[in-house]
Amino acid sequence: MMTYIEPAPITDKENPLASMMQRFDKAVQLLGISEEMYHILKVPRKQVIVGLPVTMDNGEIRTFEGYRVIHSTILGPSKGGIRFDPAVNLDEVRALAAWMTWKCAVVDIPYGGAKGGIACNPRQMSAGEIERLMRAYTTAMLDVFGPDQDIPAPDMGTGPREMAWLMDEYSKAKGMTVQAVVTGKPLVLGGSLGRTEATGRGVMVTALAGMEKLRLNPYKATAAVQGFGNVGSHAASLLRERGVCIQAISDISGAYYNQGGIDIEAAIAYRDRNNGMLEGFQGAEMIAPEELFSLPVDVLVPAAKEDVITHHNVANIQAKMIVEGANGPTSFRADDIINEKGIMVVPDILANAGGVTVSYFEWVQNRIGYKWTLERINRRTDRIMKDSFNKVYQTAQQYQVPLRIAAYIVAIDKVASTYKYRGGY
Ligand code: GLU
Repeated sequence: MMTYIEPAPITDKENPLASMMQRFDKAVQLLGISEEMYHILKVPRKQVIVGLPVTMDNGEIRTFEGYRVIHSTILGPSKGGIRFDPAVNLDEVRALAAWMTWKCAVVDIPYGGAKGGIACNPRQMSAGEIERLMRAYTTAMLDVFGPDQDIPAPDMGTGPREMAWLMDEYSKAKGMTVQAVVTGKPLVLGGSLGRTEATGRGVMVTALAGMEKLRLNPYKATAAVQGFGNVGSHAASLLRERGVCIQAISDISGAYYNQGGIDIEAAIAYRDRNNGMLEGFQGAEMIAPEELFSLPVDVLVPAAKEDVITHHNVANIQAKMIVEGANGPTSFRADDIINEKGIMVVPDILANAGGVTVSYFEWVQNRIGYKWTLERINRRTDRIMKDSFNKVYQTAQQYQVPLRIAAYIVAIDKVASTYKYRGGY
């Protein structure tokens, strides 16, 4: 019996760091790792906070707060995206950084975990303001980032455009072009084919793998997808391609329902013409955003933010399967109820790992100076996602635990055993 674990306090407002730590603690107990290893894996290696004064278009100088947390470098250089969101805070970034460590370990790619964030609202900023902010952040992080050190990527609120600015600023400072310092770049700057849709693709592959175990025929299955950004829209489109009827989608403008199935390509085209929003989309009727979670669909895909499935709404879920496209969409307190209801959860650190997997391929291509075909990238991504699903599934059976805890067991075991070979001070 281990006594040293102090579970993160459970408050009514659950936070992603508390949720992550609860699952981590559970997996650690089951694996029976030592107290010292527990602390090695728990405490982030480095946490950087920077103040970023940026001249806004109206001439005013606004100072933003930026973060980069390196959770672990045991498996290799740290990897993880940069989030632009008004609610970004250090606790959230710490949770997201740790999730990156476990995510890379689950899919067995040679990276540690990190995450960055800037508290800002990119929707209310001009392209020029965002560019200056991104360049200021890169300059502040010159000693942190590096192709063998810490490799950023896009996350919520950022994309290829921001990664291009980061690569350019970093390259200027180093006096040479350094493509491998960041992934998720535009194709012309050393980006990889397949990177944009990679996270959604991984969601599709793991969803189909889970459906196979539940004996759900994709051609007869229905799904609801919450979030219609890069992850949700590609996941919806790829699931549709494999036969699944997508009955509901949503974004910040609201939720859209069509019992006969939404034409996903039409919804994507509409969103792209409409400033990135589904507002006014005619191919479905509007429902309350919360209703999306309680629809009688087979598969529910939360693909937006943390903590959208909580003990407040979990009782209403009718889906047989939840596939977590987002990071941390289910709070810890909802886990037990989900398990009691017998719902299969393909957890975030497995389901959304397709993105970082193709990031790894991008980094490899940059380093060998060669471009792979889309066919090769998709084939390798699918294989990694399928193999990882199977490994997690087998571990779940071996330990008699849900897939989420099994994924943590696979990840923690890998990082802990690697540390044992490397050693510390
Ligand atoms: N932000 C993505 C994630 O949460 C991708 C990270 C990466 O490619 O490094 O998995």
